[in-house]
Amino acid sequence: MSITHATIVGAGVAGLTTALSLAAKGISSDVIEQAPQLGEVGAGLQLSPNATRVLRTLGVLPDIERQWLEPRSIRLASGIDLRSLADLPAGSFARQRWGAPYGVLHRSTLQQALLHATLNEPLCTLHLAQRIETVDPDALARLTGRRPDLVVGADGAWSVARDAVAESPTVSFSGNIAWRFTISTAQAPAFLSRGGVTAHLGPRAHLVSYPLNEIDGFNLVAIAAGAKSAESWALQADAARRAMLLDQFSGWHRDIRTVLAGADNPTFWPLYQATDGRWQNGRDTVLIGDAAHAMMPFSAQGAAMAIEDGFSLAHHVARTALPSALARFETERKVRVARVKARGEFNRFAYHARGPFRVGRDLVLSLRSPESLAADLDWLYGHKIGD
Ligand SMILES: Cc1cc2nc3c(=O)[nH]c(=O)nc-3n(C[C@H](O)[C@H](O)[C@H](O)COP(=O)(O)OP(=O)(O)OC[C@H]3O[C@@H](n4cnc5c(N)ncnc54)[C@H](O)[C@@H]3O)c2cc1C
Repeated sequence: MSITHATIVGAGVAGLTTALSLAAKGISSDVIEQAPQLGEVGAGLQLSPNATRVLRTLGVLPDIERQWLEPRSIRLASGIDLRSLADLPAGSFARQRWGAPYGVLHRSTLQQALLHATLNEPLCTLHLAQRIETVDPDALARLTGRRPDLVVGADGAWSVARDAVAESPTVSFSGNIAWRFTISTAQAPAFLSRGGVTAHLGPRAHLVSYPLNEIDGFNLVAIAAGAKSAESWALQADAARRAMLLDQFSGWHRDIRTVLAGADNPTFWPLYQATDGRWQNGRDTVLIGDAAHAMMPFSAQGAAMAIEDGFSLAHHVARTALPSALARFETERKVRVARVKARGEFNRFAYHARGPFRVGRDLVLSLRSPESLAADLDWLYGHKIGD
């Protein structure tokens, strides 16, 4: 083993998965989090088999499976006339094809399962309500009482750990906004599928919806172009931001517009993305998750990549001495993340297509068999770390 102790900045999905993954290799960690307690803003999350495979290995999945829902399918449908365009089977099909389940859950279900496992792991120590301004190992040692061999920047899109890595990525506003809200099952109109994830597609926008067991309701995320905003997530959607939402979905099916107009307390999430850049300093500090590669949610893979990162990092540092382990981690993960980002870009183009592109897209999708849709995703969902 090349290291014995790490300090992880940030107790989000990336940070907690890393702490558990390192502990599984016998490496202890301090996890430092600015929030006084861990609660997740936002509502729903899709977790694909590449991520749930890792969570199962870490022993966290059973806790999650008790609460989540496994969608029967992931459906693409027209936002103009509600017609179904393509259907990717999930449920038992996903378990069989990709060897791990596909689930939809409340974000706090994942956060609490990771937190519970971390608190029960003697090799992990969590420090809440501590905001880090510098990730210098000596400064961190003064806080935790132990100098780390490795510093992991898992502090999200507005990472301060990035300052310790020369030529690290920068984040910028993508030009797209996500409006997020929930709706109770009792109030849900018929076009919201009780059994699966649906992405309704339309010109310059799309709407993702899926049921959430935990709240007996639906999670809805509407994504469209929008004006730049402050560096923050989860702002309240005031009257102007609501008007912007309805404007972006003008021309959509009446039932969808009715749901958007009646949304209770929608939150307004400007979407940021990271540029390419270095993820490690060639010595002792590495960036993971959104700190390294914040991406648009067009392939619902940001948290999945954070989970893969944490597991992959532990795999490398347990086998190879620093700094080679960090170089290997960076090289391997960059290839994977670049492919996921490219897939997201493709989805963005296809989901928001207009005019003749939209007609072509609908035709191509309607000709795709479930088998061919699934085969397209084998590289993503079937991925195993350490292969
Ligand atoms: C609209 C939307 C929908 C999405 N849907 C999906 C989906 O369905 N599936 C999926 O896989 N992904 C999805 N994502 C992406 C996913 O939410 C993120 O990629 C993921 O949460 C990133 O996790 P992280 O741990 O890297 O960062 P974060 O979750 O941002 O965690 C960072 C942590 O670090 C802490 N921190 C920050 N700075 C400091 C500091 N200086 N000192 C101490 N602590 C600090 C923060 O408080 C926070 O707890 C979606 C994203 C959006 C915006």
